[in-house]
Amino acid sequence: MKTIGLIGGLSWESTSEYYRIINTAVKNKLGGLHSAKCLIHSFNFEEIADMQRTGKWKKATESMVEAAVKLEQAGAEVIVICTNTMHKMAKEVQEAVTVPLIHIAESTASAIKQQGIKKVALLGTAFTMEQPFYKDILSKHGIETIIPNEADRKMVHSVIFDELCQGRFLEESRVKYQELISKLEAEGAEGVILGCTEIPLLIKQEHSSLPLLDTTYLHAMAAVEYAMDLEFYSA
Ligand code: GLU
Repeated sequence: MKTIGLIGGLSWESTSEYYRIINTAVKNKLGGLHSAKCLIHSFNFEEIADMQRTGKWKKATESMVEAAVKLEQAGAEVIVICTNTMHKMAKEVQEAVTVPLIHIAESTASAIKQQGIKKVALLGTAFTMEQPFYKDILSKHGIETIIPNEADRKMVHSVIFDELCQGRFLEESRVKYQELISKLEAEGAEGVILGCTEIPLLIKQEHSSLPLLDTTYLHAMAAVEYAMDLEFYSA
């Protein structure tokens, strides 16, 4: 079993989900006392969120690269960035290490294709919804992406930062997300990407009429499959 290097703390609420999913999957596969071999580099999210807010992407990229290099030096054999947003600098991170980086959008694209979905709605931070780095990967796989209108994007973004990343899961926000999913369904979406690793803590499949693509779960499972040499979600 290979050692998984997790770049986490963005936020720790979702990193703990990665840790739980990865260890549960290894235990289910091997039984007994088996658990995953992993290393976690956990950021203080406020420091990184401040770089995001103020557009200091170069500094943020340097921090991400430094985390990946440290993980590789410590023995990580695969790198996993536990956030969709920070895949903005996935290329730079991959170039800085010799071990593979499992890209969250690639894992998600594989699941979308497996489900035969052609047009998908993307919910995530404003960075993920509005910038091309995530949607471009989906479109490379022939997947059409739609995003909420400006007011709805603001709502989705602020729920992420003001609530979910602070461990607050409010019924009123769940209802707002559900209403938004219905709206996106009316616009032709056949599935919804929970493209922020905290959203699956708020929205579960039972809350949605459309199939949900839980990026936290898909990404964590792709890491397990790679670490255990199981069938890999290759795109
Ligand atoms: N965890 C969130 C994501 O998946 C937001 C954290 C961040 O801004 O890096 O995008």
